[in-house]
Amino acid sequence: MTCRRPWTAAALVAAMLVAGCSGNGGSGNGAAADYPEQNITFVVPFSAGGPTDTVTRMIAEPMAKALGGKIVVQNVEGAGGTVAAGQVARAEPDGYTVLMHHIGMSTAPALYKDLGYKPLEDFQTIGLVTEVPMTVVARKDFPPATLADLVTYVKANAGKVTLANAGRGAASHLCGLLFQSAAGVKLQEVPYQGTGPALTDLVGGQVDFMCDQTTNTTGQISAGKVKAYAVTTPSRVKSLPDLPTTTEAGMPQLQVSVWHGLYVPAGTSPEIVQKLSEALKAALADQAVIDQMAKLGTAPVAAADATPEAHKAHLEEQLTTWSKVIADAGVQAS
Ligand code: ASP
Repeated sequence: MTCRRPWTAAALVAAMLVAGCSGNGGSGNGAAADYPEQNITFVVPFSAGGPTDTVTRMIAEPMAKALGGKIVVQNVEGAGGTVAAGQVARAEPDGYTVLMHHIGMSTAPALYKDLGYKPLEDFQTIGLVTEVPMTVVARKDFPPATLADLVTYVKANAGKVTLANAGRGAASHLCGLLFQSAAGVKLQEVPYQGTGPALTDLVGGQVDFMCDQTTNTTGQISAGKVKAYAVTTPSRVKSLPDLPTTTEAGMPQLQVSVWHGLYVPAGTSPEIVQKLSEALKAALADQAVIDQMAKLGTAPVAAADATPEAHKAHLEEQLTTWSKVIADAGVQAS
């Protein structure tokens, strides 16, 4: 048998004693008090070097310091982040496997018929981390000069324009869907395991355009290695002051910012969840983290949002919002 089941305090301890569970799977009070006693793995659902990976690595060290332990980052790629989420949903609820995920946690249920996990039931939220604007970027020599030109161009060249993303359910996929819906066009999508490699191909000219977080695109935009059309948030981003918003550029429907949060499998002891949340708060208050995020167009969430409760409430709201937006955009789950 496995020791996975929802945490119900005394009942769980009693049941686990009967079942003979021990070690990491049996996180009794002693295990929680001594946590962490081994390396903690932070699972990133996309490629190394991409934006989700970047944010994870920014907070991993200060969180490890706050916990008095070691955090190892592992990239588990595939299916728009759903492979990693499924893996963590099925992991032991012992606090040693933590998922960093983003808005994809709230969009995947509307996009996949058989997801294999339930965001609200199979995970325990730890806290929100940051909310990152997206940018619409293209290879440097892509002909359209503005977002309005881009719409005209892709409509005229729908059969040959390529739109990169990090797989169905990824933020870039969602943003691409919204773009296509707003432009009234269906484009050829090129899925990658993360937008790290997608951006490399964009710089190399192998794909035409994509949406991606400022945590990945800021450097390439500032260096003039990609063409940038707009930022997908209501206000401009301080680190890219010349870039218009999608509303300014004539596409107000394209609004998306990529929130990130940390999760452990459901059934993890409340003491461990609390320790992880406190460590997250400490990392987000770290000046080096604040500075690194600012350079990449984002900021840590307020301390009150780096809590399991605020994160869960946000996830619930986002699941409702995106299932409707995806349905309204005419996208079928498959
Ligand atoms: N930015 C990616 C996305 O589209 C994920 C990543 O590579 O971090 O969701």
